Amino acid sequence: MEMTEWSDQEKIIALENRDKLAREVAEELELMGYPSRTKSAIRRIWHEYEIQEEETEVEVEEDNKETPSLIQECKPKILYFDIETTNFKATFGEVLMMGYRWHGEEEYKIVKVTDYEGWDELNIEDRDYYVLQDMHEIISEADVLVGHYSKRFDHRFIQSRCLYHKLPVIPNPPHVDTWHIAKYQMAIGSNSMKNIAKFLKCDNQKDSLPIHIWRRANAYDEECIEMIAEYCLQDVRTQYSMTQRLMPLANAIPNMNLLVNSTKYLCSGCGSDNVQKRGFHFTKINKYQRFQCMNCGKWSRGRNTLTDKEIKRHL
Ligand SMILES: [Zn+2]
Repeated sequence: MEMTEWSDQEKIIALENRDKLAREVAEELELMGYPSRTKSAIRRIWHEYEIQEEETEVEVEEDNKETPSLIQECKPKILYFDIETTNFKATFGEVLMMGYRWHGEEEYKIVKVTDYEGWDELNIEDRDYYVLQDMHEIISEADVLVGHYSKRFDHRFIQSRCLYHKLPVIPNPPHVDTWHIAKYQMAIGSNSMKNIAKFLKCDNQKDSLPIHIWRRANAYDEECIEMIAEYCLQDVRTQYSMTQRLMPLANAIPNMNLLVNSTKYLCSGCGSDNVQKRGFHFTKINKYQRFQCMNCGKWSRGRNTLTDKEIKRHL
């Protein structure tokens, strides 16, 4: 038995140096500040990895290649969502519907005001009462939310409407907002979903609906609500496909290991375990190992500082 547990980063470093001798790797790890390891401990980690690799290789073939197999299997609770409302302000409008999809599941789903018995017996200003209860349940299950302008609009709107109806408030888990990514990490003029999707050549959106359809849906015309529902689902599809491209830029997403309970280090952008060492990340007083995912390209950095104690004393 080992004296100290192997950290994920330490394992990655050991695995990336499989072309070296076990003794050399042990020395290198110790120099980097990791616990001292025997040669056989290093070889054991290599061996474990080889077995895992053999097992995953078979799974990859069966995969639809959309997302790596580990994520497909473990299904982290990442929720892609979009809402439609009758007004931009929760004081003057209600939620009409929420379209959504769970990461790793194929199906796009929607919950709408008109799905519930007795919805039209409620006063107009209270008509989202039933749908909000379901939305509350769905959002409460999510470990990560993904939307477009959803931090500023969708989440706040739902929260306001829950408070209005005296329903329990919704949680605020880590939230990936593709509008935020486009605004602060890209330079494409308009940060609308349509413009981003066009730029990234993702799912093409349908033409926008004529204004009278929206006005009639806002007045609770059931046929028009159905048309808006199609539009809302299309937005979630676009959201999903453009997020797959933008995930390497997402800062809000937690470590995938935590989301799927894996001890193997996984890329937080896509869940792949094919992560390699690529240079270092420097702060004013620390140096960290930098990594890049070989599947989606996302950059990350190690947790432990690599700054030599002697150097640190003189900083
Ligand atoms: Zn990745």
